[in-house]
Amino acid sequence: MHSPHSPRRNLVTGGAGFIGSHLCERLLDAGEEVLCVDNFYTGARRNIAHLLDRPGFELLRHDITFPLYVEVDVIWNLACPAAPVHYQRDPVQTTKTSVLGAINMLGLAKRLKAPILQASTSEVYGDPQVHPQREDYWGHANPIGPRSCYDEGKRCAETLFFDYRRQHALPIKVARIFNTYGPRMHPDDGRVVCNFIVQALRGEPITLYGDGLQTRSFCYVDDLVDGLIGLMATPAEVTGPINLGNPVELSMFELARIIVDFTGSASQLAYAPLPQDDPRQRQPDITLARAALGWEPKVELRDGLRRTIDYFDALLGTSTK
Ligand code: NAD
Ligand code: UDP
Ligand code: UDP
Repeated sequence: MHSPHSPRRNLVTGGAGFIGSHLCERLLDAGEEVLCVDNFYTGARRNIAHLLDRPGFELLRHDITFPLYVEVDVIWNLACPAAPVHYQRDPVQTTKTSVLGAINMLGLAKRLKAPILQASTSEVYGDPQVHPQREDYWGHANPIGPRSCYDEGKRCAETLFFDYRRQHALPIKVARIFNTYGPRMHPDDGRVVCNFIVQALRGEPITLYGDGLQTRSFCYVDDLVDGLIGLMATPAEVTGPINLGNPVELSMFELARIIVDFTGSASQLAYAPLPQDDPRQRQPDITLARAALGWEPKVELRDGLRRTIDYFDALLGTSTK
């Protein structure tokens, strides 16, 4: 068990991914130890290269659909491809990661009596018919569509978390993460923020799906990590599910305009078909997070986009300067 005199040892699954790498870094900065477990399915070594030599950081290549026997104090379960292009490439593996991965990590948590946090998603609400989405909304998800491996996998993982709590009194925390963006997103993951930025930087057409009037609400990654850390620090009776996201909602058309403007790009808008089951609108109600964690996002969309554009600019070797 954790002694107050030794640094806390954190298992971060999916630690080489976009959000996971920021979480690993933040925990190390706070003087804690990190065991980063990742199978590099969508993660990248470059995301954690700067952490490899830091004291207290350890990397293990492992697929969480298989059992894992390690000794840690706290578990952050982030492993799962998150972008539609990635999670639809091998949908069966996506469901296995969410469901078998959750079972293994919950089994580990049960043996260690360790608190465990699940990175759930706004996708559990499906194409929501209640707006904005509150945690007590049960959602409107298609069980057999192309997004189902992700949506239903994450829904089942939530079920498992709450059953482990009811059956084994496990200390659980479930965060429902809404669209998050920032440095270390994958340049080719097809998600709207990176697509638009990469297209704008390269002077290629900006691909707007459907009429571009569908909405999303984007949270900068630093704010999101603050929320995850805040949730883990809450008393045991706070289990969630709890929405973490930025309630500032905008259409994809508006997003395209801002990114073209910020990059000074000559790119034109190009309309393309809307993918199947693409949610029409999405906005978190974060009343619960404000009350339980005293948390709300601080980074303005425009500031976060500038930092993200700078990251892609350096990564792609383009220059807007
Ligand atoms: P990401 O794809 O960058 O990171 C996921 C990481 O998990 C990758 O490093 C990948 O290699 C690893 N991984 C995948 N399957 C694995 C397996 N079977 N075993 C071990 N490692 C595995 O995605 P992200 O955006 O950083 O998302 C992290 C978590 O947050 C995911 O669980 C995702 O569902 C959730 N989430 C993200 C967003 C978002 O907007 N980024 C929104 C909602 C929820
Ligand atoms: N598990 C694991 N690491 C551990 C303990 C368990 O990976 O330290 C896995 C184990 O393989 C099992 C799963 O977690 O399949 C669920 O464990 P649990 O104890 O809940 O179930 P049981 O072992 O009774 O099936
Ligand atoms: N989108 C778009 N052009 C792109 C990529 C995405 O218009 O090049 C739209 C997509 O149809 C969706 C929104 O942007 O309505 C957000 O898509 P993303 O894949 O980033 O996330 P999710 O749909 O999972 O929220």
